Amino acid sequence: SNKILEVQQLKKYFSVGKKQTLQAVNGVSFDVEKGETFGLVGESGCGKSTIGRTIMGLYHKTAGNVIFKGDNIHSFTEKERFAFYRDMQMIFQDPYASLNPRSTVREVIAEPMEVHGIYKKKREQVERVYRLLEEVGLSRDHANRYPHEFSGGQRQRIGIARALALEPSFIIADEPISALDVSIQAQVVNLLKKLQAEKGLTYLFIAHDLSMVKQISNRIGVMYLGNLVELTESTILYDSPLHPYTEALLSAIPIPDPDIEEKRERIILHGELPSPIHPPTGCVFRTRCPKVMDICKKQKPTWQAVKKNHYVACHLYE
Ligand code: SF4
Ligand code: MG
Repeated sequence: SNKILEVQQLKKYFSVGKKQTLQAVNGVSFDVEKGETFGLVGESGCGKSTIGRTIMGLYHKTAGNVIFKGDNIHSFTEKERFAFYRDMQMIFQDPYASLNPRSTVREVIAEPMEVHGIYKKKREQVERVYRLLEEVGLSRDHANRYPHEFSGGQRQRIGIARALALEPSFIIADEPISALDVSIQAQVVNLLKKLQAEKGLTYLFIAHDLSMVKQISNRIGVMYLGNLVELTESTILYDSPLHPYTEALLSAIPIPDPDIEEKRERIILHGELPSPIHPPTGCVFRTRCPKVMDICKKQKPTWQAVKKNHYVACHLYE
């Protein structure tokens, strides 16, 4: 099959205080195909970053499996995990936080290569850093400067160059554009697309709103309170969303072209996002769902394919 990553019934719970449990990720399943971008979208606190970190093995799982290229990543030995990090890398929302301010750009980008002992000769390593800088739209003249001398968009480019240093095949991008100005967001997305085409990369692209995700994702999974609620191809998700939460998220996106008649009415969700310590019974979305029914309180909707390649968890479609 073409599956490079399989996330199977993944759960990640955290203990809070003495007796409480925070259900950050509560039984999520999806596959990512080689060469695609899979978008994972939802409000902050819905568990999407936790999924990214659990896939990377930065968190132990509570239950379920993460299979990467056929191997269960949570049963790796130390040595296997080390090798795995060459193949899967992460980029973060705030590139400055993830870049050491005392290191030059060259040191920042070369560090993963040092750790993995990639180049014996310094000169080869420096040449590689120069190439990486050029690949992300910077220049070799930037190599001896410090991260704080750069704009947010440039710093994200440095973060991307660092993530590419070990030639991974899979990149988890955790809100890589959320902290950037809208005009810069498109540039970074275009860079990620260019690099994907050149290198055959696969992306898991995490975001809190749907506006930019459409530009980059082949398929999108929508999360709410630790659960996937809808998953399909991005064009289908935009044109014919099924889940009431997806409808609300989409209605919040401004239509870029004023000539297109606004078909979607803005759906305002009332109420707070419930705590993942005390998630609602039945459907997780029921406390805010404009279409809530009696059954939604009693029974959790099943995650099922209602059409080809279109999965949803909602009693409206059962
Ligand atoms: Fe709304 Fe019920 Fe569907 Fe949940 S199951 S999204 S509460 S209609
Ligand atoms: Mg997050």
